[in-house]
Amino acid sequence: MTNKTSAVDIFIVGGGMVGSALAARLAPSGMRIALLENRAPTPYDPASAPDLRVSALSPASIHFLEQAQAWFAIAAMRSAPFRRMQVWENRRDQGTLFDAAEVDAQWLGHIVENRLVQLACLEVLQHHENVTVLCPDEVSQISYQPGGSRISLKSGQAFEAKLLIGADGANSQVRKAAGIALDSRQYPMHALVATVNIEGGERDITWQRFTPDGPQSLLPLPGNHASLVWYHRPSEVRRLLTLEDDALLDAFRVHFPAALPEITGLVQKGSFAITRSHATSYARQGVALIGDAAHTIHPLAGQGVNLGFQDATVLSELLLNAWQDKKPVEALTLLKEYERKRKLANHAMQRVMDAFSYGFSNDIAPLRIARNLGLRLANHDGPLKREVIRYALGLKTLSLSIALNLFPK
Ligand SMILES: Cc1cc2nc3c(=O)[nH]c(=O)nc-3n(C[C@H](O)[C@H](O)[C@H](O)COP(=O)(O)OP(=O)(O)OC[C@H]3O[C@@H](n4cnc5c(N)ncnc54)[C@H](O)[C@@H]3O)c2cc1C
Repeated sequence: MTNKTSAVDIFIVGGGMVGSALAARLAPSGMRIALLENRAPTPYDPASAPDLRVSALSPASIHFLEQAQAWFAIAAMRSAPFRRMQVWENRRDQGTLFDAAEVDAQWLGHIVENRLVQLACLEVLQHHENVTVLCPDEVSQISYQPGGSRISLKSGQAFEAKLLIGADGANSQVRKAAGIALDSRQYPMHALVATVNIEGGERDITWQRFTPDGPQSLLPLPGNHASLVWYHRPSEVRRLLTLEDDALLDAFRVHFPAALPEITGLVQKGSFAITRSHATSYARQGVALIGDAAHTIHPLAGQGVNLGFQDATVLSELLLNAWQDKKPVEALTLLKEYERKRKLANHAMQRVMDAFSYGFSNDIAPLRIARNLGLRLANHDGPLKREVIRYALGLKTLSLSIALNLFPK
């Protein structure tokens, strides 16, 4: 017996933060949408400690989540707003403080657990009959066709989609099915990530210090929790993860800035390899890539999912306009317009993160002088500092020409 094939306008593979938010933003239009996610997120439990995977969301990302009708539910679960960002260049300097008030903004962003963003977006989709959420289910085969792709699932269901969207993360199956190549590079560092308990100190601020081994950061979470990230050589991260909890806490206390709140306990820990990757194209007739499926970036400045939400913002606007004007959503001109608006901007941000990672993660004298000078310049109130804050807010997109001028190869 053959299973029935359902026809949809848009099939999104990957219901992580970016894919589920895109579906939620498009849902009220009435398009027939299917969203496939292979791992069902565990429901929210207010008594649980925060997850290991958290993201610093910019106001621009939060605005997109508001448009997707999901932000209210995220805020009602839990999130930690921050108004200031303290950055140190080494163990001795005074540091540079970026404050939202300098650009008349209320806050610089919110730290949110990735799973809660996903849960809130999936919840929005429950209210739309035109959206089919397939979770948990998995792809058994994707047959990309410019005139309409066919997606067969392990459950036996099959779909034909005018437009196939890959929001399926760094190892995107959609990207492979569409024959789009990937440029990728592994950084010589891993991220040790830990949820810790903290006591004392201020909570509306994030801390980051650049050391020759790699950046270190602490992001306050609701309650007495914080997310700690320590970038280091892969072998050192592996060694740190073999330590008993008390010994690892001692290592945090010794190696992290003394100005941080006291780190009193370890809730959970893990590590991530750090890769920069960029798809050579974001779109072909009938297929588009967004979020980590299109690009991954060094997370030291917490930009990855913010770039993904910018992709989703641009693509959703183009799709909603086309739908309203009764134009085909799968048209190559529309999808290339999306690529044109996002690919260079994402590339520019990758270049800047490369420069930060390289420039701050070694002790070569001219670089040390240059970065000290840079942070000192940024420490003075003025246009440069306000520009940096606007980028952090997601109010501005970094243009490639600025990135290339600031950080020539
Ligand atoms: C240590 C670390 C810290 C970070 N901190 C920040 C930060 O502070 N701010 C920030 O903006 N970014 C941050 N990032 C980056 C951010 O986590 C990613 O950019 C973001 O998760 C990408 O979201 P996405 O939805 O595009 O992809 P993913 O999160 O990878 O989601 C893809 C989804 O697709 C599903 N999927 C995959 N394949 C299939 C398939 N074949 N069928 C069905 N489903 C599938 C997966 O289960 C997953 O749910 C950080 C990253 C790391 C490693």
